[in-house]
Amino acid sequence: METYARLPVSLCRGRGVWVWDSEGRRYLDCVAGIAVCSLGHSNGRLRRALTRQLGRLQHVSNLYRIPEQEQLAATITARSCFDRVFFCNSGAEANEAAIKLARKHAQVVRGLVGTVERPPLILTAEASFHGRTLATVTATGQPKYHQGFTPMVQGFRYFPYNDTAAFEALLEASEAEGPRVAAVLLEPLQGEGGVHPGERAFFQRVRQLCDAHQILLIFDEVQIGVGRSGRLWGYERLGVEPDAITLAKGLGGGIPIGALAVKRAVDHFRPGDHASTFGGNPFACRAALTVLAEIERRQLLQHVQAMEALLCQELSALVQRHQHQLTGVRGWGLLQGLVLSGNGPSAPELVKAALAQGLLVVPAGPTVVRFVPPLTIRPRELHQAVSLLERALLSLA
Ligand code: PLP
Repeated sequence: METYARLPVSLCRGRGVWVWDSEGRRYLDCVAGIAVCSLGHSNGRLRRALTRQLGRLQHVSNLYRIPEQEQLAATITARSCFDRVFFCNSGAEANEAAIKLARKHAQVVRGLVGTVERPPLILTAEASFHGRTLATVTATGQPKYHQGFTPMVQGFRYFPYNDTAAFEALLEASEAEGPRVAAVLLEPLQGEGGVHPGERAFFQRVRQLCDAHQILLIFDEVQIGVGRSGRLWGYERLGVEPDAITLAKGLGGGIPIGALAVKRAVDHFRPGDHASTFGGNPFACRAALTVLAEIERRQLLQHVQAMEALLCQELSALVQRHQHQLTGVRGWGLLQGLVLSGNGPSAPELVKAALAQGLLVVPAGPTVVRFVPPLTIRPRELHQAVSLLERALLSLA
């Protein structure tokens, strides 16, 4: 079905940060499946681990204990502030689980039994992105994604991101007639919405108010989690611990897996409350275990921090050289957005021109070009990526 406006290339194989199309043309991949292929393409350790796993067991039902899943949950909880994990297959599914958990939290902790007239509320940010299922697209604070699909799911309210006063006002209005809010759902850094990093003071205030009202604070780390920010989890960059976190994308390095990780105190799910046939199967868990082990073994967090400095430096120099078309750079780690001025090409135009030069980048809205390469990208390749982008800019001048 025509759900995607696809670019006219067929990608057939990849190695490291490089991919090749059906015509044999090579591209430097700073998209990585949109922040998915954290270890790059054809990674030897991932390939061997998955081949071994296929030779043992690829799938069993969650009717039974699954050792790989238990090991993955133990790894995630040992390296985070969370205690329990539910596994699924994508970011939207992880957020669906979080939304259900929020409603159960509202009942169990706040005594809020939702009705059609008075649904529990989930507060999310404008310009956010949380997925395309009906509940997660409703959570997504971008009206363009709602068009054609009304009525949306009940119980979502929006406020401007990083705007403490607006958040306080919305919370106060929502709670004016008694407990009403189940959860606040926020990306620590907004990816799809234009690469906007969260501000510490704002997130600290949200944490305070959620604590005061016993409201669940959920971070959507589907894009920024699992090392991309230069810390294992995006919340570490804010110095604020959420009650729950959602993960997907980079967690499996290209094998579909999503997760909802929660603190013990808000683990309200009981047997039968939620489920997924494929969620947390041995194959997908082996992929995630390998990604997490490689992040540690290769010290990729330190590497991402160093690459962040380098990429920002190179992109800032590019902005200096092309001040008419570019205005700045923003982001964390290896999720960086190059902001266009509006005087030159749009982000989709520049992305197309970059493709012609052999570079894959992806828009984040109409005025931001996003770099989300594999976490393993090397300095020489980053330098090459910025050179190719400059060529693309010049080709449009
Ligand atoms: N949440 C965030 C922050 C995302 O960036 C995305 C996808 O871009 C999603 C959720 C949805 O993830 P998926 O496409 O795996 O359903």
